[in-house]
Amino acid sequence: MRIFNHKNEKKKEKGDKFSLFLLSLYHKHKKIMEDKQVMKETISEIGQNNSTTAMKYYSFDWDDNLMYMPTFIRLKDDKGNTVGMTTIDFAEYRTLVGKKPFNYKGHIIVGTSKDSYVEFGVTYDKQFLIDSMVSPIGPAWMDFVEAINNGSIFSIITARGHTPSTLKKAVYQLIKSNKHGIDSNKLVKNLRRYRDLADEDKLTKDQLIISYLNLCRFYPVSYGVSSEANPEEGKIKAMENFIKYVKVVSKHLQKKALMKNKISNYFTPFIGFSDDDVRNVDTMKNHFRDKEENILQTYLTSGGIKRKY
Ligand SMILES: [Mg+2]
Repeated sequence: MRIFNHKNEKKKEKGDKFSLFLLSLYHKHKKIMEDKQVMKETISEIGQNNSTTAMKYYSFDWDDNLMYMPTFIRLKDDKGNTVGMTTIDFAEYRTLVGKKPFNYKGHIIVGTSKDSYVEFGVTYDKQFLIDSMVSPIGPAWMDFVEAINNGSIFSIITARGHTPSTLKKAVYQLIKSNKHGIDSNKLVKNLRRYRDLADEDKLTKDQLIISYLNLCRFYPVSYGVSSEANPEEGKIKAMENFIKYVKVVSKHLQKKALMKNKISNYFTPFIGFSDDDVRNVDTMKNHFRDKEENILQTYLTSGGIKRKY
């Protein structure tokens, strides 16, 4: 009997401990949910105040993601002819190029030549400036517009090998001519606000746009190198640089804001990266997935449709 009672006592004790445990779990959960709610409300409030600029960063591939450019890769067929291939098709065929012959639009493609990527390099910098003003827009364009109109910092990470300042110049032209939804007045209005936060002197509209573009980053990853066919490695290096940069910028902004007592602690940055080549997005995602403090969100835009990857 005593043993039985003793067991019951133990059971009761265990039961009490268990309820206490459940209760503490419940409170912990409630606290997390409340914190989350406060966070959510504050973030949406910041969103309404248009100050998300401080934490949202963007990164874009250029070809077939932002724009469909008329640039061709010059390949060789088995008869020695030059065959032009679009960047969309190249994203599909590039693992075969130079590895084994394959059929493309009635030609047996056997490989590349010295000038296969010439249109993507410094020789064609001027052509890039022309093409970017007249080419149709791609699936990530509206995100690009959002980034620019809000004055958010972005980077261009492209396999192209143009001079980096050429990419910057192209974006400057697009902003100045308010192309496809870009609103340079909105950008400037937001920059003035943003700049006030960062304690900058008052600048003219043009100076503001230029200094904004100086804050953004342009990585044509085959600039000065020769392996355009496999841009994954170069794109990862560029992203590593951009992430480091973003962390420095957001720490700096947080410090400024704290000094001015403006916004408290909502400066955890994140970066959205979009590319239409599944190999690039996959390599990028896998490389950063297990890194401490992964702030990268990846999007695939192949086939002209943007989706989370
Ligand atoms: Mg692309």
